[in-house]
Amino acid sequence: MNVSKNLRRGAPAAIILLLVGVAFIYAMPEKPTAPETLNTEISECASACALPSHVDLSGGGFPVQRSEAEWRARLTPEQYHVAREQGTERPFANPYYANKKTGLYRCAGCDTPLFSSTDKYNSGTGWPSFTQPIDDRTLGEHRDTSYGMERVEVHCAVCGSHQGHVFPDGPKPTGLRYCINSASLTFEEVGSADAVRELVVEWYQQRDS
Ligand SMILES: [Zn+2]
Repeated sequence: MNVSKNLRRGAPAAIILLLVGVAFIYAMPEKPTAPETLNTEISECASACALPSHVDLSGGGFPVQRSEAEWRARLTPEQYHVAREQGTERPFANPYYANKKTGLYRCAGCDTPLFSSTDKYNSGTGWPSFTQPIDDRTLGEHRDTSYGMERVEVHCAVCGSHQGHVFPDGPKPTGLRYCINSASLTFEEVGSADAVRELVVEWYQQRDS
């Protein structure tokens, strides 16, 4: 066996592996934990929310999988378009943008608790807006560069249903604005913030049982 020849063959492979590794790290979606991580003007943010997402989530490998027939049976045509085709509903013409009731917002695709009324605020955009999700682990993010903009798409990490986008122009405490489609959510009204938390705990207990 010609060891030096094998080494020479191995070297380019190692370099390629290294380059792939570096490219992978740079391609990972960044989480906008601070307002300055995305260089986006506030006025752009408000209008950017209106554009549909072009992120392809078909290869996501999410825990909840349904056939096309099952998705269409579960969702209304508008819910299907927004949640499964990364669409966007019209502002000010959706059920939850001005909803001030106390309760839990679940994913329309799989009932996972995604947002609490305690984190909802009036952003003036015409879409339900939140400062944070209930649990970072249940809300996946993808960098969305469609329409020449730098946006971060958010989706349910359990079933892959598109939810909306997150922008760095939100109020305290996070400075983030999760601009979400009502069509991707269902709402369960309860009497108090504690009752919302109980519903969330219940969901986790059922999932883990
Ligand atoms: Zn879901």
